[in-house]
Amino acid sequence: MSKSPHERIGKAITVRGPVEPEALGAVMMHEHLHSDWAQTSEIPFDMAKWPVVEKCVVPALKRLKDHGCFCILDMTRSPERAAPWVYQRISEMADFHIVLATGFYREIELGKYWAREPDDQIWPFVHEASVEELTEFCVQEALTGLHGTDVRAGVLKIGTSSKDLTEAEAKAAVAVARAQRQTGLLINTHANTPGAFKTQLELLESEGVDPTRVVLGHTQGQMVQEWPEVRKCMQRGATFAMTNLRMDVSEAIRQSWADAIVRAFDEGLGAHVTLGLDWGFTVGYYEFMGNPAWRPHQGDTTMLTPCTFMPPPAYSYLFEYTLPRFREMGVTDDMIRTMLVENPQRVIPVREP
Ligand SMILES: [Zn+2]
Repeated sequence: MSKSPHERIGKAITVRGPVEPEALGAVMMHEHLHSDWAQTSEIPFDMAKWPVVEKCVVPALKRLKDHGCFCILDMTRSPERAAPWVYQRISEMADFHIVLATGFYREIELGKYWAREPDDQIWPFVHEASVEELTEFCVQEALTGLHGTDVRAGVLKIGTSSKDLTEAEAKAAVAVARAQRQTGLLINTHANTPGAFKTQLELLESEGVDPTRVVLGHTQGQMVQEWPEVRKCMQRGATFAMTNLRMDVSEAIRQSWADAIVRAFDEGLGAHVTLGLDWGFTVGYYEFMGNPAWRPHQGDTTMLTPCTFMPPPAYSYLFEYTLPRFREMGVTDDMIRTMLVENPQRVIPVREP
């Protein structure tokens, strides 16, 4: 496969190579096929986990195709990802497009969840490496491939814990911004705390990133509570990704999400809203829930478990539960098409760096 940047422009970069945007159908913007917090490296893949991949993950993606969804963005990055071949194999078995992320997660607060030592808070590589090395890591995964394979990342990730970035988060974000400018990929973020979307966008813009290349993620709450600031970011070109749209929350919360969507469309900003669930098959969350002493990177568990914080069915919950409720609450089919089909197909393809 050619690495020529020209052959990438206008294409979505999937684990099986570049594809035309129209082939993606509807797209879920933030999911996880394999997030293993017990491992320190994604290779080699522990085959004890394969039965879950084959019996649960592959069928879940096949089920999405019944809803016109042919692509997810898998926002897991090193070291929690699976080995590159696993994604190619899943993609072939389900005949489904997977766009993999490269980049970095947020720094978990010391003492929260399983973060008992600094090495638990964020991938140690982020602390050890320079900004230049972090940039090079992302560029390599995007343009050359993961771990010497031809599986390339097709989206960049940053995560921050609050409005004020930690030193490590800021370093990682600067590196990702620079990688964006070299690769032309989309940046998709973790910004689920108040104001985080705003500081993320400002930092990325200060590094020269075009706001139309940024999706500010997990921001369904911010679209409700911080609309004036959200609107400004949308008007500058940024996109928002509403996730974790579970319908067993209070009716008031459900309605507030639907109202936020309708308001964005009423104000002419519907081109800046996308959807996902943050559904995932994980190692670690479940173990942590049952055992507060559990820490990542213990390497003593191989069980890949369906998501513990989003209801079943995996991924297609969005189509089978969320969207039917949203329709009852005023979200139209046209809006859904814009958020799931048109917007992702416009922002995911590579742009001229
Ligand atoms: Zn996620």
